[in-house]
Amino acid sequence: MSELTDISLAEARNGLRRKEFSAKEITQAHIDAIETGNEALNAYILPTPKLALKTAEIADKKISDNEARPLEGIPLGIKDLFCTKDVRTTASSHILNGFTPTYESTITRNLWDAGAVMLGKLNCDEFAMGSSNETSHFGNVISPWRREGSNAPLVPGGSSGGSAAAVSARLCLGATATDTGGSIRQPAALTGTVGIKPTYGRCSRWGVVAFASSLDQAGPLTRTVHDAAIMLKVMSGYDPKDSTSVDLPVPDFEAALSGGMKGLKVGIPKEYRMDGMPEEIETLWQQGIEWLRSEGAEIIDVSLPHTKYALPAYYIVAPAEASSNLARYDGVRYGLRVPGGDIIEQYENTRSAGFGPEVKRRVLIGTYVLSAGYYDAYYLKAQKVRTLIKRDFEQAFEKVDVLLTPATPGPAFALGEKSGDPIEMYLNDIFTVPANMSGLPGISIPAGLSNEGTPLGLQLISRAFDEEMLFRVGKVIEDAAGILSRPEDWWSIT
Ligand code: GLN
Repeated sequence: MSELTDISLAEARNGLRRKEFSAKEITQAHIDAIETGNEALNAYILPTPKLALKTAEIADKKISDNEARPLEGIPLGIKDLFCTKDVRTTASSHILNGFTPTYESTITRNLWDAGAVMLGKLNCDEFAMGSSNETSHFGNVISPWRREGSNAPLVPGGSSGGSAAAVSARLCLGATATDTGGSIRQPAALTGTVGIKPTYGRCSRWGVVAFASSLDQAGPLTRTVHDAAIMLKVMSGYDPKDSTSVDLPVPDFEAALSGGMKGLKVGIPKEYRMDGMPEEIETLWQQGIEWLRSEGAEIIDVSLPHTKYALPAYYIVAPAEASSNLARYDGVRYGLRVPGGDIIEQYENTRSAGFGPEVKRRVLIGTYVLSAGYYDAYYLKAQKVRTLIKRDFEQAFEKVDVLLTPATPGPAFALGEKSGDPIEMYLNDIFTVPANMSGLPGISIPAGLSNEGTPLGLQLISRAFDEEMLFRVGKVIEDAAGILSRPEDWWSIT
């Protein structure tokens, strides 16, 4: 492992500006790390080293001309859900086989305009449907983490499993990710990285392959809270091309990092104490409460009574929107085409061959809950539940500034351990889904290790468009947790 892959994004930014190393050098160090490590981890499904070096050269020129932009020369990985102009984009699905967009997503455009360097496209669950990165057409991602004393491969979480594994294994300084029900925060928690899902509307969805449009939101995955603040600042902003993006100024997230806890009220929602929750999760949560209290926070018990309906309602709303969004993959316009005797048969053949089993399950559920006669009973009812969940949060935020909860109900599981039982898999997002249902921002911070020696995360949720609060309190948790142990480098084949 090179020193240049081991530093934080903030340190890289400083080093580049002080000309301690060049953009080309730090980019090459990451290309080398991908070359030696990616075979074992399967985090990247399309490395783009030539493009990376070409961009790094431009970055070096900008730096030497004293024209460095906010992310000048910073090598990043991009989840394959973001459309990248002239670079294959598949959402890890066979149905987008060979699809090469003719346009760039707004978020990646913002990153490139700020001088960032793309190292490649990252693996994810197919159409971001999953919690373990086992539904990808390109095969599962392996977590760099292992249980103490075991070589059994663990999942990195999902759906942004490639992003989480690449950041954790030092195959990039930071990565883009998306979160519809937990896909930034859950993999962050499982790999000891920081993941923030901003408020719905903070980042443009334009050019991001749609899963469930009323829930989807992109965000960064990084190794530190500071790095997440730097990346989110660039990714955010109003975009007239996305009618749900919100026209509000983007605050200076880095300035929020030093706020501390004095005068803040932290809510502890009692409904997040679930039956059967492992002892180690409760202990981690208590530890988090103590950290914040000892820094001067007032801890207040709050109630979010509709929490238990969030996951079932999500599994109506998300598949419903997915079934409608995925109707466009018909073999006519993009990617895969499997011919048939007539156009209907061509649709059927293409969709049968192109979608994997989890995506088919979602399309079937979604079509069912939207069908005549069931729409009111399922979809409309779920939307009403959603309003109640949102109202719970609004009432809690009359009393507190931020909520502290566990990020996941347990540590990383082994490959295959939950993939046979969809409900078991869905339950992994029990603590993350409510923030999506209400559009609120949430962050996962590495906070400790499980009994198996693998990472665990704590989640913070704040008011809409108050990501600053998440960075402020997140930094306190990060500092209190100290440096967690890191995965031993077993993946480099040098
Ligand atoms: N695991 C959840 C699902 O499968 C959430 C995925 C996501 O946030 N993209 O739907």
